[in-house]
Amino acid sequence: MAKAQVSQNNQMDAIVALCKRRGFIFQSSEIYGGYNGFFDFGPLGVELKKNIKDAWWQDMVHRRDDIEGLDSSIIMSPKIWVASGHVGGFSDPMVDCKASKMRYRADQLFFSPVVVNGETIGYVSVLEDGEMEAAAQAAAEKMKRKQGVQGELAPLELKDYTEADPTQYELIPSPATGEPGSLTPPRDFNLMFETKVGALSDSTAVAYLRPETAQGIFANYKNIVDTGRVKIPFGIAQIGKAFRNEITPRNFIFRSREFEQMEMEYFIAPDADWQSAHREWIDWCKNWLVSVGLPEEMLGEDVHPQEKLSHYSRGTTDITFQFPFGEQELWGIACRGNFDLTQHQEHSGKSMEIFDEATKSKYIPHVVEPSLGVDRVLLAILTAAYTEDEIGGEKRSLMKFNPRVAPYKIAVLPLLKNKPELVERARKLYDKLQRKFNVFWDASGAIGRRYRRMDEIGTPWCVTIDFDTVEKDGTVTLRDRDTTEQKRVTEEELLAFLEEQLF
Ligand code: ATP
Repeated sequence: MAKAQVSQNNQMDAIVALCKRRGFIFQSSEIYGGYNGFFDFGPLGVELKKNIKDAWWQDMVHRRDDIEGLDSSIIMSPKIWVASGHVGGFSDPMVDCKASKMRYRADQLFFSPVVVNGETIGYVSVLEDGEMEAAAQAAAEKMKRKQGVQGELAPLELKDYTEADPTQYELIPSPATGEPGSLTPPRDFNLMFETKVGALSDSTAVAYLRPETAQGIFANYKNIVDTGRVKIPFGIAQIGKAFRNEITPRNFIFRSREFEQMEMEYFIAPDADWQSAHREWIDWCKNWLVSVGLPEEMLGEDVHPQEKLSHYSRGTTDITFQFPFGEQELWGIACRGNFDLTQHQEHSGKSMEIFDEATKSKYIPHVVEPSLGVDRVLLAILTAAYTEDEIGGEKRSLMKFNPRVAPYKIAVLPLLKNKPELVERARKLYDKLQRKFNVFWDASGAIGRRYRRMDEIGTPWCVTIDFDTVEKDGTVTLRDRDTTEQKRVTEEELLAFLEEQLF
């Protein structure tokens, strides 16, 4: 177990290093020492991200007749965030360590009394991660040894800091210093970034960077209904940036302060079977994740218990993914009832009712919302794709990206750089392929090394132009990234193969 966890940490380190080395993801503002919670996507990262968003848009909007697209503004009237409840309640519980000035999310700081022979000898605290149980156990055993207490250590009962009794705040050690007495009681911290709009800088100018894209959809729902293009049930989909001043951004791009969301609001009749609609969307989302390369066995479902549901939700299920740092939420699928539209109707004074032709009735529809973070699914795709194997006794690391999301679809490699007839022929093929796909050109270095370079950035296929191509039958060598198998095909066969694989 411990061994597997170490290798998972190594895997995360290897992925972060590869992302920087090959130009997928950089820490934002790196030349100034970095800026916590913000990231930049390099030449390969931007392609991967775009392909993920394109695949979602294609499947969610283009390949369905019941869903329309939208691109709403990031900064909207602050009244929207009052109506949606974000100004009043979009907060996380926060705890400060007065000694170290460190700040933690209270629901990610876990503690337990250390009980020996029925007597509490102190408290241990750990930050939430896949190894926190083991870390807490080790800390408790150390405490017992240090205090020279004999007897049996009772099993630890880890709870998060929001569940602490106020008398325990003083007793729980800070994760920063290991000493008790410096942690504050938990308090709410609103995650919305504030900004000012217009020339005045008084309180009337305060506006917010959106913390979710969903409200842009609710705010435009009436506009879209009025275009007459939709009838119940229907959905509105949007991809765009969202901003949350996360207390503890962590795990690379898993939790950041600026990220992108792909959200869809699916409007249904109030008396429709919302549980079935919910299930259908959970299944749809899982299938989609598998279609972009996540192994089904790494996906799970986390059904939120009734008492932990958000104020607007009737039922929420998260699709989880086994990240190297533990199983975590990837895609939230919430049944929001008619909460949002009702709030906007009340606050704006505009009717949010729709006339249902089928039943000849008027109502405010209910909604099922699948909400996925682009950066989070990109990290899942990176971790699932990262593979180390051995080819002919030589170690290689490769990214087994699904061809649909791979940054480059194919690389064109003339066998020798100094043979103009090979280079010319290869360039022609490159130009032809480039009209349809993102293609990589690489003419220098030994062919084996060029293959490895493509394996490492996840290019599914390489095509090599050699003397047989120009002197004999015009066939090229097509090499598969995962199996490394090579076969000779004609250019027509190559094009047909790519069309079939990629569309
Ligand atoms: P958490 O409880 O982890 O803070 P949440 O339940 O508030 O997240 P939602 O509001 O449901 O998250 O957001 C929907 C989706 O947006 C999440 O499933 C996730 O994929 C993505 N997401 C949310 N917050 C972040 C973030 N800080 N960084 C990256 N992606 C995020």
